[in-house]
Amino acid sequence: MPVKGAGARGEALGRLSVIRQKMFLDKEFVSLIHKAGEERGMSDQEKGVVRVLLRSLKFYEKLSSEFIEQFEKLTNTATVVWREAKIKNNYKLFEPYLTKIFDMNRQMAECLGHKDSPYDALLDLFEENLSTREIGLFFDEIKSPLKNLLEKIKNSSKYFKVHELENAEYDRSKMEELNKKVLKFLRSDFDRFRLDVSAHPFTTSFSNNDTRITTWYHKTDFGRSLLATIHEFGHALYDLQSDSELEMTPIAGGSSLVIHESQSRFWENFIGRDVAFIKKFLPDMCQAVSRSLSAVDVYSYFNKVSPGLLRVEADEVTYHFHIMLRFEIEKGLIDQSLKIKDLREIWNSKMKEYLGITPKKDSDGVLQDVHWSGGSVGYFPTYSLGTFLAANWQGKDKEWLKEHIHKFGSTYTLVELLKKNNLPEQAGMKFDPKVNLDYLTKKYSKIYDF
Ligand code: MG
Repeated sequence: MPVKGAGARGEALGRLSVIRQKMFLDKEFVSLIHKAGEERGMSDQEKGVVRVLLRSLKFYEKLSSEFIEQFEKLTNTATVVWREAKIKNNYKLFEPYLTKIFDMNRQMAECLGHKDSPYDALLDLFEENLSTREIGLFFDEIKSPLKNLLEKIKNSSKYFKVHELENAEYDRSKMEELNKKVLKFLRSDFDRFRLDVSAHPFTTSFSNNDTRITTWYHKTDFGRSLLATIHEFGHALYDLQSDSELEMTPIAGGSSLVIHESQSRFWENFIGRDVAFIKKFLPDMCQAVSRSLSAVDVYSYFNKVSPGLLRVEADEVTYHFHIMLRFEIEKGLIDQSLKIKDLREIWNSKMKEYLGITPKKDSDGVLQDVHWSGGSVGYFPTYSLGTFLAANWQGKDKEWLKEHIHKFGSTYTLVELLKKNNLPEQAGMKFDPKVNLDYLTKKYSKIYDF
């Protein structure tokens, strides 16, 4: 969309969000929601509808229309400023917007209410009932095993920083064909689904008959394009396999971001990075880079572990340190134990502490992600949790995922859905992180020979 239209779009979206709030808070509608909540003998789907509506109702009741409109306008402008700041590598340009965004998020947390930490109120917007305490427990549990694993990998004689295939140029049209071929192999129905190109891959769903994904192309590093395509396919499949009975209801499509990310990561990591998959598409990969490749080569390229500056390019082991850093920063900025003016220094010192590297420019550091500019504070932890949850779907297929996860849409909360699938809460966490830790240890000790 044209950059200079951002102001007008912000105005329009701001007005629309206020109209939506007003319609939601219509007295008759609100009393119907409450009345429905008191009904007995409801089906699970009906209970799900009431649960989801009550969550939205709470949001709209607690925040004023002035606040909602102002937040919408601010984040629309901030996203454009962030993009410019990132291109120009000029953090100072973005800093005043970031200050306002965190101020407004702090206000939002106070309006929404919380028990222990104001950050809890924000986390809950992205994942129902997720708390600061729980994420703290989760990271405490995974931090040292991942640190040990990374040390062993770095000390291995097989350790490398750059794989030569990262720099191999590819033919874009052949790569586009390969992405389509993979999607067809995964039985994507192109009458209900599309693949396009964007600056950053994403999935968007208008209905369970119209779900669209994007991927990216960078001239080199074909794995980046292919694995992004498979990742977004995983998100799309969740919505495409949601029960059609749920269409046009508040529980259509998956709501839990943790479950959503567990789906995309399952396809990306357990299918896309698997040797059987690589062998299947090896001839197409050879064609794309116009040279002969071995499955062993591609496997080591796809499964390389090495600390890097960018979250979106991080491997299965180092990825979570990027999230820990963001979690600690968000929590600190919201409870005001950290200050925006110190943000760059905090970012850089945490990168050094966790991954042993420091960004040379802010575009590769504090300015790298879009989330904060869009107003999202509390989103990042769902990435780590979802990635960890994905290990529980090892060995499952599309049909299993449909019957046990996808078809329910947002009928159940994360905890309810996991319980249904015999994955109960574990030591204060929504599921046991050991499953993924074991998988990572087993896989990478084999690859890196220790
Ligand atoms: Mg994702």
